[in-house]
Amino acid sequence: MCGIVAYIGKRECAPILIEGLKRLEYRGYDSAGIAAIDGGLKRVRCVGRVAALEQKIEGMGGCAGTLGIAHTRWATHGTVTDNNAHPHRDDEALGHGITIVHNGIIENYSSLRTWLAGHGHTFTTETDTEVLAHLIGRLYKGDLMAAVQGALKQVTGAYAIAVICEKEKDTLVVARKGSPLIVGVGDDEYVVASDGSAIVAHTKQAFTLADGCVAKLTRNAFKTATLDDTPWTPEIRELDIDLAQIELGGFDYYMAKEIHEQPASLRTTLRGRVDLASGDIVLGGLTGFERELNRARRVIVMGQGTALHAGMVARFMLEDLAKIHAEHDFASEFRYRNPIVDEGTIAIFISQSGETADSLAALHEAKRRGATTLGIVNVVGSTIARETDAGVYLRVGPEIGVASTKAFTGQVMVAAMVALWMGRRRFLSQEVVKTYLEAMHAIPAAIEHTLLASDQVKAIAGRYVDRENWLFLGRGVNYPVALEGALKLKEISYIHAEGMPAAEMKHGPIALIDEGMPVVFIATKNSQYEKVLSNIQEVRSRGGHVIAVATEGDDHVAGVAQETIFVPDVPEALQPLVTVVPLQLLAYHAAVLRGKDVDKPRNLAKSVTVE
Ligand code: GLU
Repeated sequence: MCGIVAYIGKRECAPILIEGLKRLEYRGYDSAGIAAIDGGLKRVRCVGRVAALEQKIEGMGGCAGTLGIAHTRWATHGTVTDNNAHPHRDDEALGHGITIVHNGIIENYSSLRTWLAGHGHTFTTETDTEVLAHLIGRLYKGDLMAAVQGALKQVTGAYAIAVICEKEKDTLVVARKGSPLIVGVGDDEYVVASDGSAIVAHTKQAFTLADGCVAKLTRNAFKTATLDDTPWTPEIRELDIDLAQIELGGFDYYMAKEIHEQPASLRTTLRGRVDLASGDIVLGGLTGFERELNRARRVIVMGQGTALHAGMVARFMLEDLAKIHAEHDFASEFRYRNPIVDEGTIAIFISQSGETADSLAALHEAKRRGATTLGIVNVVGSTIARETDAGVYLRVGPEIGVASTKAFTGQVMVAAMVALWMGRRRFLSQEVVKTYLEAMHAIPAAIEHTLLASDQVKAIAGRYVDRENWLFLGRGVNYPVALEGALKLKEISYIHAEGMPAAEMKHGPIALIDEGMPVVFIATKNSQYEKVLSNIQEVRSRGGHVIAVATEGDDHVAGVAQETIFVPDVPEALQPLVTVVPLQLLAYHAAVLRGKDVDKPRNLAKSVTVE
């Protein structure tokens, strides 16, 4: 959820740490802090933005030293205060000066805290993290790595941590379990961070610390081992991140950039994977699992938020194109039920970051019950990507805006490829697959065309931006798009919006409709078109204002709706790839018009690494 940056080397650490934290800002956070060995230990923390931390550091006369750790916090235990912000200290009475930043949750912190308090420890914050700091301090006998290993053996939960100690001025210890952490290997220096964007300006050589491992980094050497001190050898590889890709590129917000990037990102998703001439789909990530996929009797698609909406579209595609029994579920619900899973079950996990804690937990449950698991993930080498049996990457590039846009269309496109790949091995003829591949190939241009409506959508947003309640309605494959449109509006403009199947409206929510209430319909030409038209009439006759997403040239919808946004005609199964675009634009423009921080909406974080 939050971000960690740590540095040990020959350069002054503070500017590197601050710049790194800024790179990680997109992940979402509520407070920030830094600690460095500057002669003695120096620690600065504050609620709010990294820029505020920077000012506070300056106000305190700067922060020198070549060993330091930094953090952006997204509170889970304890309120958002300066004092609860990381880094946290061990018990000062012990005099070790052990200081830690932590991403994740220590689940057994309460019993550990009681035990430590019984042994004379005095706690100064409400966090779970401080308990871990104290535990490390308690076990410290002159070897920081050993103390960290010992402490982590007693901990249940998820963590990525970076630890320094006033008594070991040449040692940085980092560890992870369930939260991401990458170690950048430079020239007599190491830069550690929650993701590569904070490292790549300094070095491109890096390794992902394995789950359950600890690394001790001195200025020109490192040691990596498990908690039991069994050596573990990392694989150092080139970081595949282009910094220009994560800059704004002329747009006011990352979200706008990412909405407009979708034609390009989807071309990358498709590149080298579909052969229009032969009708072949080549998905290298499924190699070795053809047998399981061919024999599958049932597919469960899981995710959370936007990824689950993509999963709902995937379910539709799997039924429609692969003719396989498919269902979708919240990953968070699946693991706490008693789900029916057998060897003929394929469990698909969709996640932008590949670190979503709920999805990861459901993945472990699905594996335990014998499912073959598949990841549809954006971040290469992320935990879900590594732990699933097989998978297909989105390849849409880093998504910085907290509200997911290009990842959604990437997920839907990959789902289409997987459904066709499976369908071709079951019932679909080469000709039918070819027709779909051609249509998929044409999607980027269709989105380019749809994006031309941005100004029109902005004008519509302007006319309704003061309304506090919206409905989003769609049917069939466009029902998840209605959910996604409502979610986008909620996330970034803080307008209350409900998405639902259009037919569901008359079973209760219709009572909400009064004069001028905005009701967004996805009313494109497809098998449900006539039904949607009837639903539009029901809204109109109660005074609701209809904003319709309709197929180009559809004068009928344009005649009954107050506002109509046209999208190109595409096959029904692929419609979400274009119908979602006007809804992304609508949410974006509404948020900007309401003066909201589009890329960093309140209370939200990019990568939800807590359950
Ligand atoms: N659980 C810790 C806290 O509440 C860390 C949260 C985070 O990942 O930022 O301080």
